[in-house]
Amino acid sequence: MIAILKPGTTPQQTQHLVSWLKTMNLDVHISQGAEVTVLGLIGDTSRVDMDLLKSLEMVETVKRVSEPFKQANRKFHPQDTIVTVDNARIGGGYFAMIAGPCSVESEEQIIEVAQAVKASGATMLRGGAFKPRTSPYAFQGMKGEGIQLLLKAKEATGLPIVTELMNISTLDLFADVDVIQVGARNMQNFDLLKELGKTKKPILLKRGLANTIQELLMSAEYIMSEGNENVILCERGIRTFETATRNTLDLSAVAVLHNLTHLPVVVDPSHATGRADLVAPMAFAAAAAGADGIMVEVHNNPACALCDGAQSLTPPQFDELSRKVQKIREVLV
Ligand code: PEP
Ligand code: MN
Repeated sequence: MIAILKPGTTPQQTQHLVSWLKTMNLDVHISQGAEVTVLGLIGDTSRVDMDLLKSLEMVETVKRVSEPFKQANRKFHPQDTIVTVDNARIGGGYFAMIAGPCSVESEEQIIEVAQAVKASGATMLRGGAFKPRTSPYAFQGMKGEGIQLLLKAKEATGLPIVTELMNISTLDLFADVDVIQVGARNMQNFDLLKELGKTKKPILLKRGLANTIQELLMSAEYIMSEGNENVILCERGIRTFETATRNTLDLSAVAVLHNLTHLPVVVDPSHATGRADLVAPMAFAAAAAGADGIMVEVHNNPACALCDGAQSLTPPQFDELSRKVQKIREVLV
């Protein structure tokens, strides 16, 4: 349930109302906009007398929120959420260009790629240290050492770093990581989501291979319900009957999500297509659809990459993509 307050309601009046609502065992989420204040009521709202609430002088309207996601819901928080990531921002008009290799492979590799993508306009560096691989015999990532190398690349370039956490037991290793990625395969690892919700770290939550948009939002809700509102959603393609691409990029998810939620939405055209030649066109389409950022895999030598070489761009290819994405964004404004 939400209560929209009348313009001019004072902070004291709002607090008074919030205290009263809390006596009904409800959690109250306050969204303070420039124009209106929205109170989001979380919990068993069946005991709330809607007519009484509506009749209060400071209350404009009261509505039931039928969707099961509450804190992620745009009705709870009409303005776009802007997530601050070190020196970068994403959402509400701030665009993130996240680039880097699928996996961190060596100091030389990650620093070379970091410097190249930075020069081409990247705002964050990605790189997997813990890799969820289909085969247990495939390269599993450099783990803690990989995170240390990402931090060196951050030191060298100033780019905030994004890297995947697969198991909560490794959380301590992520203390200096700027954005913790939850991979597609862990999107519904609810215990993991709850633990990440207890941190204040920005979380990049990737859509599961076969999950609906609503399920993605419910996973975001798991993180937010524990107190962490710094959630960035990522569309990375879903499983369909089509085999020409690794996954099928559900680009309409960008517009659907912007309608349903205030959280920023990033598109990953690399995992969506699995093919380097399709990454740029899908990145352009994502920017045109209004995505708040894109995440692209870039490798200094894709042919020798230990993971996802076929979908990795070279630094010059990323440079061209980045320039064109900026132009598309200029047209949109
Ligand atoms: C990745 O970003 O490296 C990754 C493993 O992606 P996903 O979880 O989307 O497959
Ligand atoms: Mn990858």
